[in-house]
Amino acid sequence: MSRVYNFSAGPAALPLEVLESIRNDIPDWQGTGMSVMEISHRSKDFISLAERCEANLRELLSIPEDYSVLWTQGGATLQMAMAPLNLAGPNDTVDYVVTGSWGRKAAAEAAKQCNMHIAADSSDRNFTYIPEESDWQRSENAAYLHLTSNETIAGVEFHFVPGGDAPVVADMSSTILSRPINITDYGVIYAGAQKNIGPAGITLVIVHNELLQPVRDNLPHLMMWKSYAESDSMTNTPPTFAWYVADLVLQHLLHLGGLEAMAELNQRKSAKLYAAIDASGFYSNPVEVDCRSWMNVPFILADASLDAQFLDETLAAGLTNLKGHRSVGGMRASIYNAVSEEAVDTLIEFMAEFERTNG
Ligand SMILES: *Cc1c(COP(=O)(O)O)cnc(C)c1O
Repeated sequence: MSRVYNFSAGPAALPLEVLESIRNDIPDWQGTGMSVMEISHRSKDFISLAERCEANLRELLSIPEDYSVLWTQGGATLQMAMAPLNLAGPNDTVDYVVTGSWGRKAAAEAAKQCNMHIAADSSDRNFTYIPEESDWQRSENAAYLHLTSNETIAGVEFHFVPGGDAPVVADMSSTILSRPINITDYGVIYAGAQKNIGPAGITLVIVHNELLQPVRDNLPHLMMWKSYAESDSMTNTPPTFAWYVADLVLQHLLHLGGLEAMAELNQRKSAKLYAAIDASGFYSNPVEVDCRSWMNVPFILADASLDAQFLDETLAAGLTNLKGHRSVGGMRASIYNAVSEEAVDTLIEFMAEFERTNG
């Protein structure tokens, strides 16, 4: 078996230990004589998996009792519509802080459902910074303030939580579980699983219970967070296999020492990669230092005509998925929880050698 160092932005690397457990479990899960894909989500075995998964998530993130944990389908993208639908009527105002492409998509979804107001937008400098909070133009009575905690494409991360009275709704798809957070700073947190939680197909939503009652009374059953809360996320058949893998990932994180341990590792991984980029005259990262992402590190080569050669040679060296998003160009190393420090060290060594021979 040969595993590469996988820097994919998502769906992203999963821990090898988890993949090995899956392989082992497939034919006969927990002595049932069946795989987890072949049993009812209402069976005793699956319900205990779901309960353990929630308990472990609550422990990892210190989620208070008055927040609900929901598992949905439709990815983070569906939550971009469900947030305005559940929290705002057609005439209500909602505030959006747009610091990248995902925030822009979320704002466009909200604009279809209510009175969407852009409180701040950093597209004037190609999403390389977060506007000063004191400069944000916030609405008087916004139903909520939406932000994207980590913009996966440009590699821009909030290292603070905004103040104010409106509940904060945060898209944490590419940063959740990378470090401890204070859940009570947020009204709603949502995240597609395929970066730090598990495989694609399941989505995590953490909602303060006071926000569960939808403002509108005509929402489809599956578009209401309340339906998921009332049915333990089994309002219809959930994506059982993805849920099972998420459960394994959470167990693995607890085993590694929880989110304090992940934070230490992730801080170290990102700091050494940024240090290598900043120290070089050949690579550069355009993002302001105080909002650089711990999870997605874009960088460009001084000579873009070397991009193809760089990607070919990384591939040959067992380093994959480093091509940057087309809107930014260059390279991007996504270094989620499951990307080891060894992978980052190997990338840094490769980059130094490439610079020495081509720079
Ligand atoms: C990946 C990503 C999304 C899209 O998630 P889907 O699950 O594909 O809908 C949204 N927001 C952010 C910040 C992401 O990183």
